[in-house]
Amino acid sequence: MLKNRRALVTGSTSGIGLAIARALAAEGAEVILNGLGDPAEIATLCEELGASYNGANLMDAGAISAMMSAVGPVDILVNNAGMQHVSPVEDFPPEKWDAIIALNLTAAFHTTRLAVPGMKAKGWGRIINTASAHSLAASPFKSAYVAAKHGLAGFTKTIALELATCGVTANCISPGYVWTPLVENQIPDTMAARGMTREQVMNDVLLAKQPTKSFVLPEDVAALAVFLCGDAARNITGANYTIDGGWTAE
Ligand code: NAD
Repeated sequence: MLKNRRALVTGSTSGIGLAIARALAAEGAEVILNGLGDPAEIATLCEELGASYNGANLMDAGAISAMMSAVGPVDILVNNAGMQHVSPVEDFPPEKWDAIIALNLTAAFHTTRLAVPGMKAKGWGRIINTASAHSLAASPFKSAYVAAKHGLAGFTKTIALELATCGVTANCISPGYVWTPLVENQIPDTMAARGMTREQVMNDVLLAKQPTKSFVLPEDVAALAVFLCGDAARNITGANYTIDGGWTAE
């Protein structure tokens, strides 16, 4: 379905981004991976997916520009890299705020502004932003993340309107809790912030949000991304698709 399409997936060395990269490659797309990680493991991933890799640090605007020049025009841009920090606002380290806004929001602005001219020239493009249920609803102690994800949802709607007649769509996918390192790594800080055990955080904080009482799988998110890249999705733009076990229905 995606033969002759080039796809850049940011934050694709792990978790959701890796699942999306795998699914796009399985559909025949030429995939460019990005993200941090062990060089040997990344080389293995590249071989497995027939992908190339650019290790730009997306907190650095100059590094993003260099990456977009090196990669060249892409048909599919998946802005997926993200990070989390859990803390009461009065203790929230300002440098963590800046880092989360840079990676979860500003990086998508830079990749998009640099990818759009090529998409416009071709008259075809797909921009998919991994937002979050936290682009629609808040949780305490995640001020930077919730602000960044709400911003990403607004940014996506704006570019969808700007590109509406260019054959380029822009949409958000908003997962609830997906079992990835990003979720696993926030458990200790949530235990500290809320004075809870690991089991209490899993059941009373994380899955408490999801009426289905189960974690979303990275592959579920990837399947939605593939659908948004298809021809049947040509008129889907400016949407924010939840895949959150019913979280934001409440
Ligand atoms: P993850 O930690 O497994 O993956 C994050 C990816 O981002 C990795 O490839 C990592 O190397 C990359 N990355 C981190 N810092 C980077 C930097 N400075 N420059 C370049 N790449 C960098 O996390 P995940 O759960 O797969 O999250 C992926 C996206 O999904 C994020 O935007 C996250 O906010 C969003 N999301 C996750 C969940 C969840 O429950 N896991 C829910 C909703 C939204």
